[in-house]
Amino acid sequence: MIPPDTLFLGFLIIIGLCFGSFYNVVILRGLSGESIAFPGSKCPKCNTPLKWRHNIPLLSYILLGGKCSYCKCKISIQYPIVEFFTMVLFVCAYLKWGFTIKALFAVIYFSLFLITSVTDILERVILTKHAYILAGAGLFYSISALYYPSLINNLNSDGNPIFISISGIIIGVLVMEILARSGYLIAGRRAFGEGDSYIAGALGAIFGWKYILLVLGSGFIIQFLFALPLFVHNLYKQKENTAIIEFALFLVLAWILKAYSSSLGLIIYICGLILLVFIAAILIRNIIRNINKTSGGTYLPYVPALIAASFAGIFLWF
Ligand SMILES: [Zn+2]
Repeated sequence: MIPPDTLFLGFLIIIGLCFGSFYNVVILRGLSGESIAFPGSKCPKCNTPLKWRHNIPLLSYILLGGKCSYCKCKISIQYPIVEFFTMVLFVCAYLKWGFTIKALFAVIYFSLFLITSVTDILERVILTKHAYILAGAGLFYSISALYYPSLINNLNSDGNPIFISISGIIIGVLVMEILARSGYLIAGRRAFGEGDSYIAGALGAIFGWKYILLVLGSGFIIQFLFALPLFVHNLYKQKENTAIIEFALFLVLAWILKAYSSSLGLIIYICGLILLVFIAAILIRNIIRNINKTSGGTYLPYVPALIAASFAGIFLWF
């Protein structure tokens, strides 16, 4: 006999995949401005309306080999990826919080996180309506927590949840705006778009003034970890060999000192510090150069890093 829990999990996997399929529509039609209810789905290349068997989440993509059955053009990998991740998030929320209101809110947050970051990665835009819905969901949760103490979590355990949410919005927007406007001092223009401030404010409604600072900080660290290899690759591509050689030289020097002497700990430590300062200097130079460029250069959206930190935050503190 199948335990009822396994049965429910299977049901949840199917529901998650179906919601993922719906989110794909929300993402694409949010960008094109079409209605999400009408018309039915069609191939974006040849415009042929799709049959139901072409619309089964994940399965259709695999069975069709990633190609439209009419015009044989490639179907974007975005479809199965979003469907798969939505399913994983639904299952994770259930495993962590069970069949509760808290799990329902987590699923709503996760869904909005996913839709917002995929939209940003695909088209480099933040839709303000996504930020408003996210902020609305955060505020609604806080109001609910005021009346249903079982909803209280780490994020709003010390104080009035509504005050925590609203101050979170203010802090989120304020921090991002100060950072964005510091671009005026360096290059005479904003360091990044207004969309990031909207999302930071919306996340502030969920995390409150204290935890939003942690989320923003973790977002920057995640962004740095992603940017570093890309940045080294770019230096190589731009044939800035001197920078590469200096960079490698420091690494080798530190490694030799470490390998040959244990008493030279202090020197290794100092070398490490010099290396860090060196990396920071090149990074800052690169950022300034990227700000000065009106077009071109590597675009690395910050919102996905922020969202990644938020996923972790929800799991840890919710
Ligand atoms: Zn087609």
